[in-house]
Amino acid sequence: MIFIKSDDEVARMRKPNRIVAELLDYLGGLVRPGVTTKELDTKAEEFIRKRGGKPAFKGYHGFPATICASVNEEVVHGIPGSRRLKEGDIIGIDLGVVMDGFYGDAAKTFAVGKIDSEAKRLMEVTEASLYKGISQAVAGNRLYDISHAVQQHVEAAGFSVVREFVGHGIGRQLHEDPQVPNYGPPHQGPELEEGMALAIEPMVNEGTWQVKVLQDGWTVVTADGKRSAHFEHTIVITGNGPEILTRL
Ligand code: MG
Repeated sequence: MIFIKSDDEVARMRKPNRIVAELLDYLGGLVRPGVTTKELDTKAEEFIRKRGGKPAFKGYHGFPATICASVNEEVVHGIPGSRRLKEGDIIGIDLGVVMDGFYGDAAKTFAVGKIDSEAKRLMEVTEASLYKGISQAVAGNRLYDISHAVQQHVEAAGFSVVREFVGHGIGRQLHEDPQVPNYGPPHQGPELEEGMALAIEPMVNEGTWQVKVLQDGWTVVTADGKRSAHFEHTIVITGNGPEILTRL
């Protein structure tokens, strides 16, 4: 069941989403060669708690950390640890905050130092596909108009979209209905309405769309070992189109 948010509920969603946006911005400034993903995670948790929020991912189905840190061929759900970032890596950071009963969720992929041109293109296409999807998040459209817009942009650039992991509704729960795939036929799925809040999150691979989960039970990697990028915003559908709650 898709929960329609009242104006009051949307207002309450602004704060956790604002913290998510500010934190991603802050972490982007800390990403550099030599830093470990655990150090980023520690800073992230401090940042959230100082602002009176709680990390939404920590403990979620047993996930052990505040951020998901996914490097290079890691697609999503990478567990922060002792790995040191090195020049040329790309790192996807996904994080959520809960505050006053509502959730915020966003992700961004960052370059570590100087990266090669194909990695840069992968990141640019993924981020642009997110905005293509968001532009379809309009009352009266169908859910898969979002999905289709993402897929079209990605595949036209020669990359692929991950099938097994998808975006989602968000609000009083981190993951609510509907699922928001990054692929699918246009003009299908539930009709979009004002007050729907969605986390739209294309995961885009350089090579095959197929993925596998590592032995740790969390880290998702590309099946062919090529790189992957991930961008996500939480948005709400308003009378004036989509409002991005996780943009500064
Ligand atoms: Mg999400």
